[in-house]
Amino acid sequence: MDTKDLTAWIREFAGLVAQHKDELTALDSAIGDGDHGVNMDRGLTAVVAALEAEPPDSPSALFKKVGMTLISKVGGASGPLYGTAFLRMAAAADSVLDGAGFAKVLRSGLDGVVARGKAQPGDKTMVDALGPAVDALDAALASGAGTKAALQAAADAAEQGREATIPLVARKGRASYLGERSAGHPDPGATSVTLLMQAAASTLGS
Ligand code: ADP
Ligand code: MG
Ligand code: MG
Repeated sequence: MDTKDLTAWIREFAGLVAQHKDELTALDSAIGDGDHGVNMDRGLTAVVAALEAEPPDSPSALFKKVGMTLISKVGGASGPLYGTAFLRMAAAADSVLDGAGFAKVLRSGLDGVVARGKAQPGDKTMVDALGPAVDALDAALASGAGTKAALQAAADAAEQGREATIPLVARKGRASYLGERSAGHPDPGATSVTLLMQAAASTLGS
């Protein structure tokens, strides 16, 4: 996968977030302040505009632009968290990525989210979708799956991780202010991460 392929991934993610904006916002209304869909859509609309204005010439430049734009345009927790993920991905990306290279990049992104937000698995955050996705991607590639199938396994794991956040009590972010009342709802950030991985499965690999 080259810069063009990875740009298509980001554009597809932006499209899915725009399509699911109201759903993300409704989820955040239940356990947060009701802005996750609006936040992510604003940020990704700016990302797509920035990529069109000046197409990046390497995966690293692409991820850097995505990260910087999300940090500057998205208020709230998700901007710095997604932004840090993409900046770490930029630092880890070679000029062309195979499946294993993409898995390495994605794990760097996860490490960035954890370093920045200090969430543990089970805290009911985006980590609960991204962590299982990265693990499933590694496991599928190690068992000999092709990149496309491995990315589909990663997207499925993200979705399962998102479902698994429903009964959890939030221990990080705004939802944690609700205590026990945060249980019974999926985490909005885990939901947007699922869209990120679904976009990867549909646009990357062959
Ligand atoms: P805000 O909560 O500031 O309004 P958003 O609504 O855009 O920001 O994003 C909320 C999402 O951010 C949550 O659903 C959760 O997945 C994620 N989040 C919040 N705090 C953390 C954290 N410390 N680590 C990882 N993810 C977090
Ligand atoms: Mg919010
Ligand atoms: Mg907010």
